[in-house]
Amino acid sequence: MSPSNIPTTMRAAIAHRVGEPLSIEQVPVPTPAPGEILIEVLACGICHSDLHAVDGDWGTPPLMPLIPGHEVAGRVAACGDGVTHLQPGQLVGVAWMFWSCGTCEWCLAGMETICPSTESTGFSKAGGYAEYLVAPAAFVATLPESVDPVAIAPILCAGVTTYRGLKRTGLRPGQWLAVLGVGGLGHLAVQYAVAMGLRVVALDVDPDKLALATSLGASAVVNSRETDPVAAVRELLGGTHGSIVTAAAPIAFEQAVGLLRPGGTAVYIGLPGNDRDTISASISRLVNDEITVRGSNVGTRLDLQEAVDFALRGQVAATVRQVTLDDVNDVFADMRAGRIVGRAVLTPR
Ligand code: NAD
Ligand code: ZN
Ligand code: ZN
Repeated sequence: MSPSNIPTTMRAAIAHRVGEPLSIEQVPVPTPAPGEILIEVLACGICHSDLHAVDGDWGTPPLMPLIPGHEVAGRVAACGDGVTHLQPGQLVGVAWMFWSCGTCEWCLAGMETICPSTESTGFSKAGGYAEYLVAPAAFVATLPESVDPVAIAPILCAGVTTYRGLKRTGLRPGQWLAVLGVGGLGHLAVQYAVAMGLRVVALDVDPDKLALATSLGASAVVNSRETDPVAAVRELLGGTHGSIVTAAAPIAFEQAVGLLRPGGTAVYIGLPGNDRDTISASISRLVNDEITVRGSNVGTRLDLQEAVDFALRGQVAATVRQVTLDDVNDVFADMRAGRIVGRAVLTPR
């Protein structure tokens, strides 16, 4: 696509006030600044974080009105000044981490995910619920021409986030992992874990999610609504070596510690709907059993490229419900009710 083919306006789904439905509007196509690219959105996954953002769960988003969306697969439409490694026509992916400073102690240490100056796609910067968005060229993932944009979109947040979270458990092949929450993130966590040689017990409150987990390679499942999951996992396996929480319900975070074997590691990924939620844990259990609890926030650019590579090799594949821009409010309603199995992905055209 040459710049002359780029329209001046585009359709976008916009949040004007927290807690209100998004409205579909015609707005100007953004212009890439130096170092940025303009991307034609081919597909954008709908992450639960988008719902937290528009519901104001983490306060009012820094950018309001807001175009959400941070699982963007698209095609470079135009390059801003100074962009040399990308060309119009190439396929790229945009994730939550829109930009990080590159100079703070965390960026220098390869932990750009916790850069205090970071900008976030679809939160502090306009995201992918639109026909176009801009992103810094240095922060997009490059994708091969053969990739299916709808299929790859969920990898760009749900995939990379769970991939990094799994690495942060420190588990070895053959060990047991509990995945608490088999939603958009969790159903990919099951697959990355299986691909890494781990054995998975999946926990959710919905039988359809558990059936999906079994079909994706989980060796055991537990319905946390019907059974005490801590007792069930301890009875079944004597506890697990690691656990990752991709549910948003605060109780799952305590269960993820409770169901560990001595020496186990719990990795927290899910974000509750209330910023002030806390957990309680037995100090003597943490000390005597040498339990580790870690947070995990999205993924670095290297994590992103590695997570995408698993999908390109066919080792992980999102279960996708394809929708349009006009369906966004219905998808949010389904997400609030826990009715989405896998990931909803919108195509803006
Ligand atoms: P989702 O709505 O697709 O999935 C959530 C799943 O949790 C559903 O399957 C639901 O049935 C299940 N669940 C609800 N209560 C449960 C319970 N008590 N026990 C077990 N399972 C339960 O959401 P998603 O898009 O997968 O996102 C999940 C969470 O991860 C959100 O809070 C999101 O904001 C967060 N997130 C964090 C990061 C990060 O970097 N840390 C990145 C992306 C998303
Ligand atoms: Zn930084
Ligand atoms: Zn996300």
